[in-house]
Amino acid sequence: MFDALTDRLGGILDRLTRRGALTEADVAEAMREVRRALLEADVALEVARDFIDRVKARAVGVDVVKSVTPGQMVVKIVHDELVKTLGSEAQGISLAASAPVPILMVGLQGSGKTTSTAKIGRRLTTREKRKVLMASLDTRRPAAMEQLAMLGEQTGVATLPIVPGQTAVQIAKRAMEAGRLGGYDVVLLDTAGRTTIDEALMAEVVEVKRAVSPHEVLLVADALTGQDAVVTARAFDGALGVTGIVLTRLDGDGRGGAALSMRAVTGKPIKLVGVGEKFDAVDEFDPQRIANRILG
Ligand code: GDP
Repeated sequence: MFDALTDRLGGILDRLTRRGALTEADVAEAMREVRRALLEADVALEVARDFIDRVKARAVGVDVVKSVTPGQMVVKIVHDELVKTLGSEAQGISLAASAPVPILMVGLQGSGKTTSTAKIGRRLTTREKRKVLMASLDTRRPAAMEQLAMLGEQTGVATLPIVPGQTAVQIAKRAMEAGRLGGYDVVLLDTAGRTTIDEALMAEVVEVKRAVSPHEVLLVADALTGQDAVVTARAFDGALGVTGIVLTRLDGDGRGGAALSMRAVTGKPIKLVGVGEKFDAVDEFDPQRIANRILG
């Protein structure tokens, strides 16, 4: 995870801390290198620029340059600003609504939406002792419905029985009704994905959203697609209003551009990250911990 960025930043900041004294020019030069490293990690240009401006504004001051350990002070500032860029506080899924709490899972096909739905279902069941019902609204791909049913069996999370011929909105309403009657705490609605964002996809998800008024709309995006993941998140947010991001495949992400840009570009928190194919391979996104990891 973020290996390339960790190596680059580690090298730049090590050189800085090894020097006894620092001039403002040294700091400016190091920040130019940090900026380059961020851009090579596929961080969005405006996010990298803003980050560097914030670090410089704090680090080029007299206090830092004249301090006994200026390099370490700069490293601390870089760390603090990185945490801010990542969103400051960890934010889990909110269940603060009356049961059954509807949660809508949206995203492109192949982003890891169905797997993430099952991971979240299992996490809420085992960690938070919630009674969870999952339903697939993918009326065009029967295989997707069967996939969720199978994941439900494997994770021990209930799934809504499949009734062929229903529209996505009908299934969503049936899921909420089953959730109410069955005394479920949470209903996870896995919407259909497409390989690209198209009007039909958005129109359908908007209709489902209107029908069930979800408490959370979670956009699932693939970290390996870098800035495309951020562009996708913006598009879904613009059309739907998302409440949080689930960033998948962070386990294979050596660069980190999506994770680093997502919050700043969309204004929406990354709530969970996928870190593998297994059902328990899902973690809270904790900006402090991620910053520690990136800075080695
Ligand atoms: P969907 O089309 O968006 O529903 O995507 P799926 O949930 O079917 O996932 C597509 C593939 O990505 C599957 O093989 C998953 O096992 C894999 N996958 C999903 N999340 C992760 C993750 O966080 N890490 C890794 N390594 N693989 C993942």
